Amino acid sequence: MNYDYLIVGAGLYGAIFARELTDAGKKVLVIDKRDHVAGNIYTEDVEGINVHKYGAHIFHTNDKKAWEYVTRFAAFNRYTNSPVANYKGELYSLPFNMYTFNKMWGVVTPEEAAAKIEEQRQAAGITEPKNLEEQAISLVGTDIYEKLIKGYTQKQWGRPCTELPSFIIKRLPVRLTFDNNYFNALYQGIPMGGYTKMIENMLEGIEVKLGVDYLENREELSKIAGKIVYTGPIDAYFDYKLGTLEYRSVRFETEILDKPNFQGNAVVNYTDSETPYTRIIEHKFFEFGTQDKTVISREYSSEWKKGDEPYYPVNDDKNGKLYQEYKQLADNEGNVIFGGRLGEYKYYDMDAVVIRALEMVAKEI
Ligand SMILES: Cc1cc2nc3c(=O)[nH]c(=O)nc-3n(C[C@H](O)[C@H](O)[C@H](O)COP(=O)(O)OP(=O)(O)OC[C@H]3O[C@@H](n4cnc5c(N)ncnc54)[C@H](O)[C@@H]3O)c2cc1C
Repeated sequence: MNYDYLIVGAGLYGAIFARELTDAGKKVLVIDKRDHVAGNIYTEDVEGINVHKYGAHIFHTNDKKAWEYVTRFAAFNRYTNSPVANYKGELYSLPFNMYTFNKMWGVVTPEEAAAKIEEQRQAAGITEPKNLEEQAISLVGTDIYEKLIKGYTQKQWGRPCTELPSFIIKRLPVRLTFDNNYFNALYQGIPMGGYTKMIENMLEGIEVKLGVDYLENREELSKIAGKIVYTGPIDAYFDYKLGTLEYRSVRFETEILDKPNFQGNAVVNYTDSETPYTRIIEHKFFEFGTQDKTVISREYSSEWKKGDEPYYPVNDDKNGKLYQEYKQLADNEGNVIFGGRLGEYKYYDMDAVVIRALEMVAKEI
């Protein structure tokens, strides 16, 4: 045995595990099948702009410990997520707040806004919502639903809101204040210099091998370490023998534009149904960039099939049950710890990954 631990996956979860074990005196090797570290939070330098290659990532948390941990490895800027909705050329502030209601109806006071929403809810007369459309209208009325929810949600799920179950939307936060800070988080920001640099800092002094797939070299790799931390897909580890866990996927179309400013904001949601993409991300604005060029990514929500990049786990009964069956197998694997968003088949925000990884590694140490 050359190493105490083999860490499969150089994403956030694997990097934290590696850092903590190394600091506790363990000998660690990190591998990743990709040709870069940082997993899905990877940022790539394009024209001096940090491009979020696997989707826009904004760090936000109420957990002081998670914040203190990440800020050990990067200084964070003061970026605040305030997305804009574009409905057929009309621009609205998100999340729904007084700026949104003023633009939508010309109302000026919170009372007028509340009365308008109530009037629309009453007029719709829905008491027992049978689908997502009825649920949304019963919560915020027709105008907000039609302009800001309907098209976006249909594109996200790939089917009409009348065919989606109402439970998907339990509540729709309505702010009767001029607060358009999307996340209700005490701490928020983007690591200056990009997420890749932050992960590189976490992995400083630790041996990392890229372009190595654990599953393709399982026999020989299993022999080199006493224990394995596996952050890849749990079903792939077991060769899909109980079936395939499903994901929702996203396709990105990234373009370099020869102008300094395309949309004036990092995130613009396209909320009509005709525009095929859900959002356009303009990466430079996560870091208040002043470069001459700009890089934008159009995001298309798409069905996932085996072999595609897995993004969002599908949290329905079928997949939940299948995951539990895989978890039982995983629990019997003895010297393997399954962790992270793919290893635990769970949508984890980055702060949750930090907390979970620190919790799990503390048990090891
Ligand atoms: C589109 C999108 C947007 C998001 N935006 C936000 C956000 O704004 N804020 C937020 O807090 N969170 C966000 N998240 C969540 C965030 O991406 C995750 O919390 C984080 O990436 C999880 O880290 P991880 O290490 O568990 O997984 P990953 O980053 O996926 O790392 C797993 C690594 O394992 C490697 N691997 C897998 N199989 C093998 C194998 N067989 N051999 C070798 N290596 C292997 C992979 O290549 C990968 O690098 C977003 C997620 C998505 C999908």
